[in-house]
Amino acid sequence: MSKFSQIWATEMDHLRAARPVDPVLYFAPEALVRTQRRFRSGFPGAVTYAVKANDNAGVIDTLAKGGMQAFDVASPVEIDAVRALVPGAVLHYNNPVRGGWEIAHAVQAGVASYSVDGLGELAKLVEAVPKGAEMSVRLALPVEGAAYHFGEKFGEGPEGAVELLRAVVAAGYVPSMTFHVGTQCADPAAWTRYIETCAEVAREAGVRLARLNVGGGFPSDRGRGAALEPIFAAIRAAVSHAFPEDRPELLCEPGRAMVADAFTAAFKVKAERACGALFLNDGIYGLLAELPIIGPHQRLRVVTEGGTLREGPTRPYVLYGPTCDSLDKLPDTVDLPETTREGDYVIFDGIGAYSTATNTRFNGYGSHEVVTVRRSGHRASGG
Ligand SMILES: *Cc1c(COP(=O)(O)O)cnc(C)c1O
Repeated sequence: MSKFSQIWATEMDHLRAARPVDPVLYFAPEALVRTQRRFRSGFPGAVTYAVKANDNAGVIDTLAKGGMQAFDVASPVEIDAVRALVPGAVLHYNNPVRGGWEIAHAVQAGVASYSVDGLGELAKLVEAVPKGAEMSVRLALPVEGAAYHFGEKFGEGPEGAVELLRAVVAAGYVPSMTFHVGTQCADPAAWTRYIETCAEVAREAGVRLARLNVGGGFPSDRGRGAALEPIFAAIRAAVSHAFPEDRPELLCEPGRAMVADAFTAAFKVKAERACGALFLNDGIYGLLAELPIIGPHQRLRVVTEGGTLREGPTRPYVLYGPTCDSLDKLPDTVDLPETTREGDYVIFDGIGAYSTATNTRFNGYGSHEVVTVRRSGHRASGG
């Protein structure tokens, strides 16, 4: 995208003028600014961003201009990308499993903070990371509430975490703790349980935590609202209760909830079947890769080729993607206006997280344009 590419007022204006046949992602920086403010005013600590949710340069740049100082990065490529865009950024490398060459790259780039979830991983870090860096012990608990869990792949149980926290201190690092409740988690109690267990682990280890990183996992609005404020309140209450003294500094690293509302996608209807099936020009191998895992996305609008909103009675539709693979079908059915026709656009609002990040080129599809808009035509329902 050129520096001088046009900025449109809304996605509707662009659709009317361009009538695109490939998928389009509309980026509304003002929506990102609003979400960043919502986190900054509600979360009782430092707010960072998990780059993997969407590494678009405009996103990183907008967050940095909005005052974000630290970013959660998961790989050497993400480290270099953020460094290039925000040379002074503080980098937290919180993918807890790394090859030695990845650790060397991070040390070279001046990464300030690492997560660690086992003695074997800590031994690799000790080889290369100077004393004085922050090491966050990653805790895993069998906690419900998220769309899917990360606990099976990463993290140490409470007993192992006690041992690991002591080892972090013995190795000369700044001791902190972290966890991830699992993505799209709407249940504040998940954070409460983790925070209380972190406090128990620290007490048992006899270690005062410098910081407590409550991770990502905050929900975005996928059609039923996204209640961030009750989660912020639960975090605040749990920290006061679990750490009556020596309260660690708090930070969070949302990916999904920070970026979801900043993007809207427009997909063209390639064909319609009398049985109520629509074939779109994008699907599970494109921008909608996570839908089979996370469930249907229900913030949808239908716009005609001429750019008018379809209204009136709805009916359930099955949505298929464009590839020759029969798996390329979106989960469940979605309700859309019964007047929806071939040539229309199905608009997905709040689709900024894990969409462009996981898009593939399978079957020759998957090319999409990113268009900047001054504001999104459809406001998030908020919390
Ligand atoms: C993926 C990830 C995040 C962001 O998770 P969301 O559910 O998108 O908020 C934060 N921290 C770590 C360590 C992650 O791996």
